Amino acid sequence: MNTIKLKTDSGVSDIILGEPLADFPKYLKRRAPGAKVAVVADAAVAAGYGKKLVQGLVHEGFQAELLGVPSGERSKTLREVSRLYRFLAKGRFERRSWLVAVGGGVMGDLVGFTAATYLRGIPFAQVPTTLLAQVDASIGGKTGVDIPEGKNLVGSFYQPSIVWSDPELLKSLPKPQWRTGAAEVIKYGAIGDAQLFETLEKQMDTLMKGYSAAWNPIIARCAQIKADVVRKDPRETRGLRATLNFGHSVGHAIEAATDYHAYTHGEAISIGMFVAGFLSQQMDLLEGLDRIRINTLLTKAGLPSGVKHPIPRPRLMDFLARDKKVENGAVKFVLLKGLGEAISGQEIAPEYLDAALSASGL
Ligand code: NAD
Repeated sequence: MNTIKLKTDSGVSDIILGEPLADFPKYLKRRAPGAKVAVVADAAVAAGYGKKLVQGLVHEGFQAELLGVPSGERSKTLREVSRLYRFLAKGRFERRSWLVAVGGGVMGDLVGFTAATYLRGIPFAQVPTTLLAQVDASIGGKTGVDIPEGKNLVGSFYQPSIVWSDPELLKSLPKPQWRTGAAEVIKYGAIGDAQLFETLEKQMDTLMKGYSAAWNPIIARCAQIKADVVRKDPRETRGLRATLNFGHSVGHAIEAATDYHAYTHGEAISIGMFVAGFLSQQMDLLEGLDRIRINTLLTKAGLPSGVKHPIPRPRLMDFLARDKKVENGAVKFVLLKGLGEAISGQEIAPEYLDAALSASGL
């Protein structure tokens, strides 16, 4: 079994890679025999993966129930958390009971936060079903929900005890979700592994056709990079975990300034990576050729280099200034120190930022 063990002060995660979902109930039986299990699944996968999982759990002697949650970011709310609490309380789920999230990053964040707070914490597992969740969101223990004032403003660090990452679950994933995940995968190559980046350059055309076994080692490598970073800087206090936000300051600002409708997360961070690459070159950290390689790979994955319609600069700057990466009023950027190495907390002179944003039509 290909397992990554991730130990942090907020718990221990066993990240299990490449095993079929059908084997999860047997595995859980060894960890938590006789536990009561609530499977909370994204509506898009509840009738398929969610139901099969519950049947498998029941077959192994668990008392298991399925709850579907509407798809999308709109479910990452305190209202939905409250609905889950009440479902658990009415069903008499107790301290030893388990929560299992089946879905993408939205399910992981929502169910993780519920698990962290229901009865002051019950064990939970994640079954990530999007590429983004398998390479990123399911690993590292950040859980939380959105409030009207902003995304992810309420949450906690709470590790899933198990992450069961079966790449075959991605077979049903729609194309835009592949592109969003691919943006994060390219990010991992750019910030943490030049060899992974090279593999992506060679295989991107095949990879973007959808799921194939070629994805398995790539997903495993990204999961490993994320786990290594989180192990060294679990609470994002040492500047290392912040490098995972390469492209995200501008990306989040674009998403927020367009009310989360005009761009997928992957598209927004792709534009953010174009901007951050430009800045990295301007700061003499990144060779021009390496910047071109990053831009070419993003384009090959069908991701944009700039915005479709200009966003008024004051509006964009306002959202940039609200970003969590702001310290003492200055926006700090993650830049590349060459391909495969990143540095966080970089302050940028306004004229450099202006040029970089303009290059992406912002
Ligand atoms: P998502 O969970 O909304 O899933 C994207 C879409 O794919 C949804 O419409 C869903 O219904 C559908 N879907 C999921 N699995 C499917 C499958 N196998 N087949 C068909 N359709 C499927 O989005 P996401 O991109 O996975 O995650 C984004 C969320 O993750 C954001 O809320 C973001 O804040 C969060 N996130 C969290 C972390 C973290 O460290 N906790 C990191 C990155 C992102």
